[in-house]
Formats: sequence, C-alpha cells, structure tokens
Amino acid sequence: MRIVVTGGAGFIGSHLVDRLVEQGHRIVVIDNFITGCPGNLAQHKGNDAVTIVEHDISKPIYLAEGVDRIFHLASPASPIDYQKLPIPTLKVGALGTHNILGMAKLKKARVLLASTSEVYGDPEEHPQKETYWGHVNPVGPRGCYDESKRFAEALMMAYHTYHKVDTRIVRIFNTYGPRMRLNDGRVVPAFISQVLAGEDLTVFGDGSQTRSFCYVSDLVSGLISLMDKGDENPCNIGNPSEITIREFAERIRDIVGGKTRIVERPLPVDDPRRRRPDITRAKTMLDWEPKVTLQEGLEKTVAWARTVVSPC
Ligand code: NAD
Ligand code: UDP
Repeated sequence: MRIVVTGGAGFIGSHLVDRLVEQGHRIVVIDNFITGCPGNLAQHKGNDAVTIVEHDISKPIYLAEGVDRIFHLASPASPIDYQKLPIPTLKVGALGTHNILGMAKLKKARVLLASTSEVYGDPEEHPQKETYWGHVNPVGPRGCYDESKRFAEALMMAYHTYHKVDTRIVRIFNTYGPRMRLNDGRVVPAFISQVLAGEDLTVFGDGSQTRSFCYVSDLVSGLISLMDKGDENPCNIGNPSEITIREFAERIRDIVGGKTRIVERPLPVDDPRRRRPDITRAKTMLDWEPKVTLQEGLEKTVAWARTVVSPC
C-alpha cells in the first residue's frame, strides 16, 4: 500500500514508519520538523520506499499519486512543546486534520487520527473508558492541546458521518522509548537524563499522581491493528499498568544505578491526578494488548539514552 504518515519524523511516527517499511509498504512522510527531526528517519536514507516531504500539514497539500491509508500523527505532544507552541498546536488539530480528511476523501483512503488520553483531561472516572466524555479546562495551559484533539475527533466523526470517509480515532496514553527528545520535558526522558547526568530527579508535586506507560513497539502494533481491524469509534491504546510518579522515579534510579536524590518541584497547573486506560475495547475488537513490561521497556530506553548523540 501507499501510506501517508504525518508527523513521521517524530518519536512515535518514526517507529511506525520503520514497521510499515518492514511490512513492505511505500511511505510518504509529511513533517515540518517542528518537534521531530530528519535524523529519526536516517535509517531509510537511499530507500526509495520512503519519501519525506517537508511541509506544514496545517496548510493544504496535494499529492499526485494514489494514497491507500493515512496515519495523522502530526502535532506537538509534550506539555512543554505544546505550551511553547499553542497556536501551531491548535492549528494542526483543526486545519491539519481538515486537510488530511480532504486528502482521505479525495483519494478514498482510510485515515487514522492520533488522539490522546488528554481528551479525558483530569479524569473523574478511573480507569478511563472510551465512553467517558472527559473533564477538560479549555482555557488552562493544556487547553490548546486537549481542545485541538477534541476538535480533531469531532471533525473525524463529521467526515465519517457526512462524507462516509473510513476513519479511525486512537486515544494514545503515555508512550515512551528510544528517539524521544531527551530535553522534551516529558517525564521519561527527563528522569532518564537526570539520573544519567547525576542530577536530582525532579518530581512535580508530591509524586502521588499516576500515569500508565506503554512501550513504543506495543503502541505501534496497536495503531496498525486499529487501522486494519477497527471501526470509527475512539479506541484507547496504552498500557494499563499504573504507577505513581514517585515510584516511577525510584524505578528509573534503580535501573540506571547511582544515588541521585529525589526532589519535589511545584505541580504544573491542571496536571492530571490519575491516568490509566481501560483497554477492554482494544482487547476485544483488535485482539491487542501490550507485551513489553515497564522493566524491559525502561531498560531498552535507558540503554539507548546512554548511547545517544541527538541526531537533531
Ligand atoms: P513528536 O513531537 O515526537 O512527533 C510529532 C511530529 O509531528 C514531529 O515530527 C513534528 O515535527 C510533527 N509535526 C507537528 N506539527 C506539524 C505540522 N503542522 N505539520 C507537519 N508535521 C508536524 O510527538 P510523539 O510523541 O511522536 O506524538 C505523535 C502523535 O501521538 C501526536 O499526535 C501526539 O499528540 C500523539 N500522542 C502521543 C503520546 C505520547 O505519549 N507520545 C500520547 C498521546 C498522544
Ligand atoms: N513530571 C515530573 N517531573 C518531570 C516531568 C514530569 O514529576 O521532570 C510529572 C508530570 O507533572 C506529570 C507526569 O510526570 O504528572 C507525566 O508528565 P509528562 O510531561 O510526561 O506527560 P503528561 O502525562 O502530563 O502529559
């Protein structure tokens, strides 16, 4: 198949491209490198199955050839990135998703939106099922990201209902692995780089907030299964194994070794208290569940981080 991946030079996008190339597909990456980098795709240099188009998907684009499938991953994703880039973030969820849906309609392609657990905001229901509508502050510091994805979901559903476009919506929960930018501010690269540098581990608040971390290879399998076997309704993909941020800091310190101190820093505004996906729908509909344990995934990520010289 000929598959478009927007955001294909980013963390998740580049792993998805690797897997799709292994499966024998031809890939067109559309990326403006605002938070990703060409170095994440260096392994495909000289491979004519992978074409990289430098383009801001919030502006229209017309591809000459046919397209079978579109994975729409383009968006700043780390809280630091999207709070630095609130308007590009809102535009890519709204205008970028509109442009991609126009492409899907024209090319009769199936299209998947990378949405997020952030559509649930600071959830009052736990664990989060797809039927939960969320608890989001539209004008808080995370509003630019949350509302961009909520709008994008609504647009996907409107194109599905009105134009009969074949759509998928995946709500991705915290995902980690090699190729995260070590300075992107998200907790996994932050903690790993702090311990490797012998610096204090900065736990925000008292560290009792929870997250549930999914290794990137499991996430990529989930994205492809949803594209192949899913339907138009949102589907959570993530690892339901939940951990407090303080325990997470201790776990990373144990894996890396060393005696780094854990220090508390102010909790960011609207930081969700708890987050864990209910993945019953993915298990039943896709026969998917994560396979990589947190220990294995963190060991791989730490091993990668020890060797990394940022390609960006
Ligand atoms: P990332 O920042 O590493 O990758 C995003 C990519 O999109 C980058 O390469 C960036 O340059 C590109 N991009 C951004 N705006 C663009 C635009 N206007 N035009 C073209 N390209 C653009 O982030 P990631 O962690 O790989 O996230 C990928 C997707 O998954 C995002 O849509 C994100 O919202 C979603 N997601 C990720 C997580 C996670 O834990 N990593 C969780 C929930 C949702
Ligand atoms: N966090 C932390 N220390 C850091 C970075 C993040 O304690 O140096 C916390 C953050 O407050 C949040 C959790 O780790 O509770 C996950 O943060 P991240 O930015 O990775 O993503 P989020 O899940 O909040 O979107």
